[in-house]
Amino acid sequence: MVVVDANVIIHGRADQRFKKAYTVPEVMEEMKSSEASMKADLLDLQVSQPDPEIFEKVQERSEKIEAATSDTDEKLLALALTLDQALVTDDKDLQNLGLHLGADVEGFLEDRIDEKLEWKTVCSNCGREISSPPCRYCGCQQVRRKLD
Ligand SMILES: [Zn+2]
Repeated sequence: MVVVDANVIIHGRADQRFKKAYTVPEVMEEMKSSEASMKADLLDLQVSQPDPEIFEKVQERSEKIEAATSDTDEKLLALALTLDQALVTDDKDLQNLGLHLGADVEGFLEDRIDEKLEWKTVCSNCGREISSPPCRYCGCQQVRRKLD
């Protein structure tokens, strides 16, 4: 069994690998459209919650590496770690966070990234690395994330 995100549930029913899978309650809630929930019905989904301590660890790491992952993403990863199962997702931020935590991560429609990535916060104007706006070099209030 694997842990899957909403995208895999919506597109994965033809794939035998995902006939049975785990996911979290938030993903089921995200799939409110009738078409999406119909597809979810075709899969044998086990809806489960991660270990709260593992979820906390995932959230801490996400903050540390400035991953653009949602609470739901982090919960999915925590569930994969809790159950010691692979996480199947095409979300690069989530894949990367998984690699940082030593999780077994698989891509679904695309290959997964094969190395850990680090983001840094840089000024949108001058491009220098800063910790938070305003930029101490040029005073710009805008920041963006950049791969290291
Ligand atoms: Zn600047």
